[in-house]
Amino acid sequence: MEDKWTVIEQKVNSGERLTREDGLFLLKCNDLLRIGALARLVKQRKSGNEVYFNVNRHINLTNICVARCNLCAFGCDADAAPAYVMEPEKALDIACQAVKDTPEMTELHIVSALHPDKPFEYYADIISRIHQEFPELHLKAFTAVEIAHFAKIAKLSIREVLTILKEAGLGSMPGGGAEILNDRVRQILCPNKASAAEWLEVVRTAHQMGIRSNATMLYGHVETHEERIDHLLTLRELQDETGGFQAFIPFPFHPDNTGLSEIKRTTAWEDLKMLAVSRLMLDNFDHVKAFWIMLTVPIAQVSLGFGIDDLDGTVVEEKILHAAGAKTAVGISKQDIIAFIRETGNVPVERDTLYRKVRVYDGSETP
Ligand code: SF4
Repeated sequence: MEDKWTVIEQKVNSGERLTREDGLFLLKCNDLLRIGALARLVKQRKSGNEVYFNVNRHINLTNICVARCNLCAFGCDADAAPAYVMEPEKALDIACQAVKDTPEMTELHIVSALHPDKPFEYYADIISRIHQEFPELHLKAFTAVEIAHFAKIAKLSIREVLTILKEAGLGSMPGGGAEILNDRVRQILCPNKASAAEWLEVVRTAHQMGIRSNATMLYGHVETHEERIDHLLTLRELQDETGGFQAFIPFPFHPDNTGLSEIKRTTAWEDLKMLAVSRLMLDNFDHVKAFWIMLTVPIAQVSLGFGIDDLDGTVVEEKILHAAGAKTAVGISKQDIIAFIRETGNVPVERDTLYRKVRVYDGSETP
């Protein structure tokens, strides 16, 4: 055991890539602080003592979904009580209000369920209208699962869908819908949405077209440790090929109100280990993000000592994860994010979606 640790520490110290076997050893090992120290070293090399956040707002256009995944508490049938769908005017109103309330906001994050009837033009129209009204605002929209759905309903290729959206004003893509990129797991979690191969094809095509994206992992349900590590290796391989990923975001599964509600929520120990191991395995990703909505603010703050260099954004009105029982606030103020990054001895850096620095809070200034 000690020999294995020595090999892994030597590899990390010299910048050598960790293997599948190394990843499995770390994931199965209980020396959380030792894993965290190594991950922190990698984070320090990548971004020093800077920790990023952005000022954004989420818009979820509809929760009516044809896929009805077992993992999801958000998607529902059209006749269910919480069902809603926003018309383009409503989405534009929300964007207008968000810009009015938060003029420094740089990003709108738009993801939705797979509506049975709304045509692809509906989504392209929303992107186009918001982009025309607010050309400076970065529109990070539509997961690879949604893009695959659009291609299917519009009978277009992935490239054609992305070309239309890019021309309409799409800036980049979020990383959702990846779950675990493994067909066995997807058959249990989400048999009716994009397969692992389709998810990868959409992301590969987007990157080839200059559309950058994030990548996620949903863990803590029916997957094995091996499947978690293989997920990381699949992403690492695609990143070697395209270089188009910006950040990796591991999410713990929230079982409440899902078809898998008997599963127990992961512990803080497990969450911190997963974040740190992700940082160590994904040597070609610049950023690993702790999404505080899923993790809770306290765990997200502690994760800054475990290799994490990004806390996502101020968010405002997140619906999807709260449907699954997330007890966190639906948004957080910029002042609070800055304060809790500072408390860890790191320097808060407000960024835009493409990780350009908007403002570095390296003194005692308040936002
Ligand atoms: S995870 Fe996405 S595709 Fe699956 S039911 Fe929920 S909203 Fe629909």
